[in-house]
Amino acid sequence: MKLFDLKGRVAIVTGGNGGIGLGIARGLAQAGAAIAVAARNAEKSAAAVKDLESLGAKAIALKVDVRDEAWCRAMVGQVVARFGRLDILVNNAGTNIRKPPQDYALAEWREVLDTNLTSAFVCSQAAYPEMVKAGGGKIVSIGSMLSLFGGALMTPYGASKGGIVQMTRSLAAAWAKDNIQVNAILPGFINTELTKGARQQIPGLHERVLARTPAGRWGEPEDFAGTAVFLASAASDFVTGAAIPVDGGYSVQM
Ligand code: NDP
Repeated sequence: MKLFDLKGRVAIVTGGNGGIGLGIARGLAQAGAAIAVAARNAEKSAAAVKDLESLGAKAIALKVDVRDEAWCRAMVGQVVARFGRLDILVNNAGTNIRKPPQDYALAEWREVLDTNLTSAFVCSQAAYPEMVKAGGGKIVSIGSMLSLFGGALMTPYGASKGGIVQMTRSLAAAWAKDNIQVNAILPGFINTELTKGARQQIPGLHERVLARTPAGRWGEPEDFAGTAVFLASAASDFVTGAAIPVDGGYSVQM
């Protein structure tokens, strides 16, 4: 269907070598986009590229630490040098450090904010001129249920994910005139490396999530393909500044 067709489009997915990022990259690849997977672990990124190529997509791996401004800016340059344009940026790379608020070192606060929020701003800023050149673009940033709720062991994570939603609204307001749509996806509880740690650290989390989620299950990375393709394609050309939960109903049930 033309509305969702991404043939000829070029996407960067930060943290695209596993978990939700790879689920999104696979969706964009199946819709026809060329994909740059940007992350630190070269082995995981090489495997992700093979996986995307097996779906018929053009794909490259870029070694990037999104905490580093220079790497983020170089990443955009490398993608344009390889594919000639940039249409879609998915700010997905993320991390968490779980502890009571009184126990965080400032360096830990900065580690989470730099990885989850500042990187999304820097990458969006780096992508902007290329999207203007292309006549428009799509930016999708990954928030969380912690964009909406608090968590006793997640103060910096919650601050970063709340920030993603407000940053998204401001970028959307600023860049609508350039035909750039900026939206966020708020995942519920998803079965990935990140939540493997949470399940080990927080007793009863697995069962509590199951009990609270109307869909009656944890999410899987492939649950993100549809929403990502929608937000990356012409189907969402009049959608901007939105934060869409993909959570099996977690955020709407008391
Ligand atoms: P994973 O741990 O599976 O993936 C995290 C990804 O981010 C990896 O690909 C990792 O690659 C990359 N990454 C982390 N730090 C950096 C860095 N400094 N530079 C570049 N890449 C980095 O987690 P998820 O798939 O679960 O998380 C993806 C996003 O979804 C995150 O933003 C997370 O906060 C969010 N989210 C996840 C939820 C869940 O339930 N799983 C719920 C709500 C939100 P590498 O290590 O190779 O750099």
